[in-house]
Formats: sequence, structure tokens, C-alpha cells
Amino acid sequence: MLGECHAHMIMDGINYKNAVARHQDGVCEEAVREHLRQCKDAGIRFVRDGGDAKGVSKFARSLAPEYGIDYLTPLFAIHKKGHYGGIVGHSYDSHEEYRALVRRAKEEGADFIKIMVSGLLDFGRAGVLSEEGLDREEIRYMIETAHDAGMAVMAHCNGDQTCRYTLEAGVDSLEHGFFMEEETLALLAEKQTPWFPTLAPVGNLSGCGRFPEEEVQKNLHMQMDRIKKAASLHACIGLGSDAGAYLVPHGKGTEDEYKYLKQAGVPEETLLLAQSRVQKRFRR
Ligand SMILES: [Zn+2]
Repeated sequence: MLGECHAHMIMDGINYKNAVARHQDGVCEEAVREHLRQCKDAGIRFVRDGGDAKGVSKFARSLAPEYGIDYLTPLFAIHKKGHYGGIVGHSYDSHEEYRALVRRAKEEGADFIKIMVSGLLDFGRAGVLSEEGLDREEIRYMIETAHDAGMAVMAHCNGDQTCRYTLEAGVDSLEHGFFMEEETLALLAEKQTPWFPTLAPVGNLSGCGRFPEEEVQKNLHMQMDRIKKAASLHACIGLGSDAGAYLVPHGKGTEDEYKYLKQAGVPEETLLLAQSRVQKRFRR
């Protein structure tokens, strides 16, 4: 089984609020062990976390060897105040505050830096994002500052323009990357930046009744088409399910993502290559 390159150990794939509440008075060991066990049972030997604000992924990393899992984490994700990202990390306002968060992550033992540079999908309206992405200069500043501190950068990023800015600025892995257009896909392929298209959080909504089915299918097929296009350009596409997200439980979510990627025609060797690049690059 391949590794899981984008998971959130703090979430359970069922109910975000309840999952987070379990860690209200400090990290709940039982919850972390449950999720690590689910990964292990699915044959997963590598997990890269996308961060959380409660120290859950840091604790998970300390237990992971017991489950035979190589575990990397940014500890928390960093987002700009007033923008999306509070559910997985901390915010900054000034560049000084951003630098302080990068320093803090490093001092507390982060393996890499996770940044949030765009909104998330509006699952009920295909092709729509919850907000505009950050501007070009801001994204460049975030990535360069982390690189200057000797840290690799994983970026939560959606939207054609925001993805292009992020790739141009030299991000080390692109997460989600919904709605990239041809030119951006060509840049992705040219740069060989590992891309984790996270199909499971969209595809697994099918039939759940929470969102209009037609919109779910449209989002899923849009992303599938872009993956096919990227694969034909030999882009570096990898397996990261956003495990922990709604209807994407640990273990099973990774298996689901694998099926979607196969359906999109991504060769096994490509997935392996993306994972090995991540395992190398994102370790401090
Ligand atoms: Zn995520």
C-alpha cells in the first residue's frame, strides 16, 4: 500500500466538531491511537499530516513508530488573519508575525511548513471557491521565508491563478489544486512539483445528500479531467486524501483516493515517485 501524503489526524471523517472536541483538555491519546490503527490496518506505512492547532499531529508522530508508520508533520498550518485556515492552525497579520510562526514551527520540531493560500471548495456549487486566494507577493513572501529558514513548504491551494502564483514561487507540494487551467497544468508538469489533487473529499460526498449531487459530480469530473491532462504531461501526481475530512476516514480514505486516482489513469509509478519525493524533501 502506498503512503498517505495529506491527512489530518485531528479529524475523524465523521464530524469535525466532535473530533476536535475530544482534544479539548489536551490531546486525546485514544483518538490518536484509533486513527493510527486505521492507517496501519490499511497497510499505510507513511503519513504526512496537514496540521492542526491542538498538537494532535505532533503527538501522533511520537506514537507512529509503534504502528510501523513514518510520520511527518508541520505541527500547525499558517494562514493569513481573516482568511481560511483556522481549523488547522494559527494565523498571522504582519510579516513579522509570519516569520515568528515559521520560527515557532521550527523550534517546536515541525518537519516542514504548511501554508494556506486560498479558500476551499464550495461543495454545493461546482467551480466555486469560498474566497479569493492571497496575492502573488504575499504567496512569494510566505514560501521564500520558509525556504530561507530551511523548511520545505506544503501549500493548501485552489484556483487557477493562485495555483500558478504558488507554483511559480517554488512551493514544494501543491495540495488540492482544484480548477487549474492548461497553462498552469503545464507549469506544474514542467516544475515536477508533487500535486495531491484530493479527490476523496469530493467524490465521497456522492450520494450523501448533503450537497446537490449534480454539483458534486461536476466538481469531481472537473478535477478528474485536469488530472488526466496533467498525467498526459507527465506531472508528478500523488496520493493524499485529506484523510479526516468529512466522509474520508483514516485508512479507508486513502484506499478511496487510490481508486479515484486509478480511475483518472494515474500510473502507479507516478504515485510512488510523488511519495518518494515528499518523503525526502519534507523531512528536516
Ligand atoms: Zn488538508
